[in-house]
Amino acid sequence: MTQFKYQCTECHREFQRDDVTYLCPDCSKTYAPGMPLRGVLQALFDYDYVRAHFNPHAPDWDLFSAVEQQFYPEFPVGNTPFFQSTRLGGQLGFTNLRLKNDGLNPSGSLKDRASFLIVAEAIRKGIDTIVTASTGNAASALAAVCAAAGKQAVIFVPESAPKPKLVQIMLSGARIIPVKGTYDDAFRLSLEYTNAKGGLNRNTAYHPLTIEGKKTVGLEIFQQNGLRAPDVILVPVGDGVIISGVYKAFYDLHQAGLIQKLPKLICVQAEASNAIHRYITTGIYANAAHPATIADSISVAIPSNAHMARRAVNNTGGFSLTVSDAEILDAQALLASITGIFAEPSAAATVAGLLKCKQEQLLKADAQIVLLITGHGLKDVDAPMGGMTLPEAVLSIDEC
Ligand SMILES: *Cc1c(COP(=O)(O)O)cnc(C)c1O
Ligand SMILES: [Zn+2]
Repeated sequence: MTQFKYQCTECHREFQRDDVTYLCPDCSKTYAPGMPLRGVLQALFDYDYVRAHFNPHAPDWDLFSAVEQQFYPEFPVGNTPFFQSTRLGGQLGFTNLRLKNDGLNPSGSLKDRASFLIVAEAIRKGIDTIVTASTGNAASALAAVCAAAGKQAVIFVPESAPKPKLVQIMLSGARIIPVKGTYDDAFRLSLEYTNAKGGLNRNTAYHPLTIEGKKTVGLEIFQQNGLRAPDVILVPVGDGVIISGVYKAFYDLHQAGLIQKLPKLICVQAEASNAIHRYITTGIYANAAHPATIADSISVAIPSNAHMARRAVNNTGGFSLTVSDAEILDAQALLASITGIFAEPSAAATVAGLLKCKQEQLLKADAQIVLLITGHGLKDVDAPMGGMTLPEAVLSIDEC
């Protein structure tokens, strides 16, 4: 591990690692539930030290970690497949398309990366209870990592979350508190809970190490791509923490002198859950009024990390787009039928986004493009089931 400080992403005030836990105490004074978080912190490393100690022939990724390895839970995450898909690329008109299949994390989503680092931090601090609000995947990830570490997870989740995610949470022995309401209601209740009863709050972006945890997917893409940054990465966006984490990976690599250019980050949102998209395209922030979408993991009215997500897109020369539920379901079927990868709707949104990029000629055909597949399709089988009918059962091959 390298020394780091926290820095407020708004006022740039710096804090020693153990002098703050969640948000910048100054900037968060203007925060109230119902708006994106204010004063989100980021970990700034001693980049001169990283530059001096990182050996490309034997990369030590620990140099980029904000928690010492000795505190890591016994729950390996990451190291998910990264590979070229000539078939999907050919179908969409791109010659250099790669997939990062993060649905193959132990609990089935990229959220394992954030939960892993938060539980490591809880182990470092000797905290036994970890609390989160979630649309489902952050919860099932936290429940799983807590099970492996012998910690108690307390989870606020909308009662409407897909059943497989609820089952994962329950089986892992977490305390589940279904909320009558949306993810945004669960977010508010979980903050009230930790304020009143303690425990470490894992809410996305609220705890800065969620961004650091998700960052590891960007570091892995760099590593698996032969220590090179791709040209473009498409990211499905709900709260805007995955895209901020991917940005932070390449920011760190740039600061450490390992890359010259940041990949363009493309924010993909669902049409109805488009608060960050509108913020990026108009510069004006407003909550999404009714963020109803089949892509439950990116259904958010009040994205907690809207400000950082917008900077991630703007600072990389990227852009933002939205896709409809019908486009997401078509893309989910296309991905499965052409690559064999069954992704949950939120993850398949990137495929729909790339199709839109093709139609509107937003990207060069030979650019090196990465689709971030964030969650496994078995997380929510009801979504694609709606459009399917099983063939009649047979008794003999005469009927085949
Ligand atoms: C959480 C999640 C997202 C969105 O990540 P944010 O950090 O909320 O923007 C996308 N896809 C899947 C599968 C997720 O679980
Ligand atoms: Zn501040």
